[in-house]
Amino acid sequence: MSSSEGLKGQLSFLGGFKLTLEHLSRPRVTRQYPDEKKPKQPRQHGRHVLNRYEDGMEKCIGCELCAGVCPADCIYVRGLDNPPDDPVSPGERYGYVYEINFLRCIHCDLCVEACPTEAITESKLFEFSFTNRADAIYTKSELLVDDEGLPRHLPWEDWRDGEDLHSSGWMRATAPAGNAAYEGEVQWSGELGYGLRPPEGGQSGRRDDEATGTKPLREVLEAHLLKEDIPLEHRGMKGRIWRAKISAARHKKHLDEARSRHRASKAAREESRRPQTEMRGPK
Ligand code: SF4
Ligand code: SF4
Repeated sequence: MSSSEGLKGQLSFLGGFKLTLEHLSRPRVTRQYPDEKKPKQPRQHGRHVLNRYEDGMEKCIGCELCAGVCPADCIYVRGLDNPPDDPVSPGERYGYVYEINFLRCIHCDLCVEACPTEAITESKLFEFSFTNRADAIYTKSELLVDDEGLPRHLPWEDWRDGEDLHSSGWMRATAPAGNAAYEGEVQWSGELGYGLRPPEGGQSGRRDDEATGTKPLREVLEAHLLKEDIPLEHRGMKGRIWRAKISAARHKKHLDEARSRHRASKAAREESRRPQTEMRGPK
């Protein structure tokens, strides 16, 4: 090994410092979870809620369609005739017993799709854990929203401000078949505490990101952005070239690093083999 190579080897630790210094000026990607959380996606599937109409009546009519469609067999519903003098729901029947076993639920939202009255929807809460099986089986009194229309906060759930605002986001997609003519058209009933919820923001100009909670989605997925949301230098052909350059530079950097690692390991292998060959000598 030449003296310059030796010196280079001895100073290789400076590469580590360089990497650290480079990261000092980069935007920080780690978060102080759970104190600081990422915004949740408008259609995120979390813990279920049973909704009420604006007049306080329960939306569930005890039809058991949600239980029938559930692939994990985790919903148990029993319907009962509404008492004529004090009806619980506007229908003939209401959900007398309603239970969801969250040890089984896979949050597929098929129950939400099957429900004819939008009674069952999912909030954005997914941070809940249990220490016993009974806590994991949510009963109707735990699932039904309170007198203000808000989800009940159970002791083992980690609710934060705003996490209960966008339950039913999935139900508010107005053009599920991709037909832009239906964007912004309200096709659902009002909810206690919220009234008639605004439609989920589509890709047309008729959208309200703040009201519908779709802003986080737009911040993550550029494909959902309108032209005016994208910085000028990142639009159209300019944007494509900008993205291609960024990605080429990233790939080149990774390739250079991989090549130098390969060269170093090859050199180390050759170095370790040399004395053995020399020791064996000519026969
Ligand atoms: S989200 Fe899916 S698995 Fe969970 S209760 Fe509804 S249908 Fe069943
Ligand atoms: S939640 Fe909906 S689908 Fe399930 S029993 Fe009630 S009304 Fe029927």
